[in-house]
Amino acid sequence: MRTGPVHNFGAGPCALADEVIENTTKAVQNFKNGMSLLEISHRSKDWMAIMDETVALFKEVLNIPAGYSVLFLGGGASLQLLMVAMNLLEKKAAYLDTGVWASKAIKEAKAFGEVQVVASSKDKNYTYIPEYKIPEDVDYFHITTNNTIYGSEIKKDIDCPVKLVADMSSDILSRPVDVSKYALIYAGAQKNCGCAGAAIVIVKDEVLGHVSRQLPSMMDYKIHIANGSMYNTPPVISIYTINQTLKWVKKMGGVEAIHKMNEEKAKILYEEIDRNKLFRGTVEKDSRSIMNICFVMNDEYKALEEEFYNFATKQGMIGIKGHRSVGGFRASCYNAVRIESVKALVSCMQEFEKLH
Ligand code: PLP
Repeated sequence: MRTGPVHNFGAGPCALADEVIENTTKAVQNFKNGMSLLEISHRSKDWMAIMDETVALFKEVLNIPAGYSVLFLGGGASLQLLMVAMNLLEKKAAYLDTGVWASKAIKEAKAFGEVQVVASSKDKNYTYIPEYKIPEDVDYFHITTNNTIYGSEIKKDIDCPVKLVADMSSDILSRPVDVSKYALIYAGAQKNCGCAGAAIVIVKDEVLGHVSRQLPSMMDYKIHIANGSMYNTPPVISIYTINQTLKWVKKMGGVEAIHKMNEEKAKILYEEIDRNKLFRGTVEKDSRSIMNICFVMNDEYKALEEEFYNFATKQGMIGIKGHRSVGGFRASCYNAVRIESVKALVSCMQEFEKLH
């Protein structure tokens, strides 16, 4: 059992549900017949059963239609930034530039073809989701649904006339998603899905196999599909935590129920940010993320920033420092962050306001 109270607002790696930690710990100690999860062969029947179950759970929890494959691959979401382009970009792709990760995706894609950036919010330090028009002469359109560093989010599944590709690293499993609208979704595991190690790729089978370039085996989604994500040795610990997280999500009532809780948590915190004289949110209201909530001290209270950070840390708030490109504070309220933690942070902000 952990000792508390710890209110983990880390941006990833981040809070995981208690039972995910407990069950994974048990499996590390004794997965099957005295063998640790760290020791078993990924070709063993017992591990293969976990792989199959994890794919099935993902399909069930996100209501993934037939014709899609679910993969667990090494290299994190960062490898997916380029793997997507390598597998899907023949001539030209369109990208929406909404933050650091989106711009890294653009940079990687440029190695494989022409990239059209349809819009960017860089002019205002990525504090909003810009308006855009999707061109129809492109191989795919790439979006980052949640911008972890800046705290903006595309909260709806958009209609797209071309293949839609989404980096959902920091909001996958936070809401129901109409997967049928996407050609490919990818996400690093280490926020809403489990611990670092695997990236999840959900891909519509029919979009693969159309580029003319020769793909190295490890870069070829079709090879990973044919090998059940075990073309090479899979990151078993990460996949095991994904398995346990999906079971926890189901127990909590599925992504619909989780989404309601996430909205409630975000509402409580944004209301306090908007009310409290010391703070202000950094993102335009209709672009605000419910996962990563960014705020700074109002100009007249800027000098108090470090004092608030120390005050909050003393009261058990962990990981609230904003990313260096935004400054101030960022409270990441992923699925496993309890509403009590959000309320504790709000109390902290209120107490600090009284002191000033
Ligand atoms: N995309 C987004 C939106 C992220 O937030 C991150 C990491 O925080 C990444 C990609 C890169 O993920 P990884 O560290 O798994 O490569």
